[in-house]
Amino acid sequence: MSGRRVTGEPPEERAGEAPARQPAPTARFRLVFLDVDSTLVTIEGIDVLAGGNPDVAKLTEAAMNGEVPLDEVYGRRLEIIKPARAGIDALAQRYLGSLIDGAADTIAALHDAGAIVHLVTAGIEEAILPLATRLAIPPRAVHAVKVTFDANGHYAGYDRRSFLTKPGGKDLVIRDVRARTKGNAALVGDGASDLEAARAVDLFIGFGGVAIRTKVKENADVFATSMRDVRRHLLEERGTPGAD
Ligand SMILES: [Mg+2]
Repeated sequence: MSGRRVTGEPPEERAGEAPARQPAPTARFRLVFLDVDSTLVTIEGIDVLAGGNPDVAKLTEAAMNGEVPLDEVYGRRLEIIKPARAGIDALAQRYLGSLIDGAADTIAALHDAGAIVHLVTAGIEEAILPLATRLAIPPRAVHAVKVTFDANGHYAGYDRRSFLTKPGGKDLVIRDVRARTKGNAALVGDGASDLEAARAVDLFIGFGGVAIRTKVKENADVFATSMRDVRRHLLEERGTPGAD
């Protein structure tokens, strides 16, 4: 669990020989569930795939605001876009370049503190896995929607059985993980589907660092507008007086 760090961090940080070094933070939650689009990254994957198609953007916004049930828009958007394998690969690259400030550090600190980080998203699994790998989140902790392609790499459909394309899906996925893993849990997310899952965790952190959804802001246990805010709720920095 610990010992894996995001590549690019200075190795001397792990040496532990500097006398004035701050003690490592401790995790306030054993399980941390993170939304991806507009939370971990600054983009909405489906809108990137749509290439600015305004019909798709409108459907996404309506779903995120809780105005249209997710399952109604999910298939419709993909049927409009029909993302090919090449488009999904391009989205994977966009995800890697769109991480929100402080996210990689926060996830690395959570891992070092022994927390288990899961990604829970209605995004497309194939596009999210490379991002997860960079963050040292194993595929088994990535909960996303599979799409299928034909032999030529053209869109062939998505996993219609996935809970994550349906209302209340994140709630079910989180409860399933928690049934298998003991410990308290937090969820961080910006959208209505995250808010729906608030009752499945001990702390729901509404995230407004990319987009602020009024319904989420008003109903979240706490509301954060940056990853630094989120980190404060997830990690206790030791040796910092009054950090609590
Ligand atoms: Mg989101």
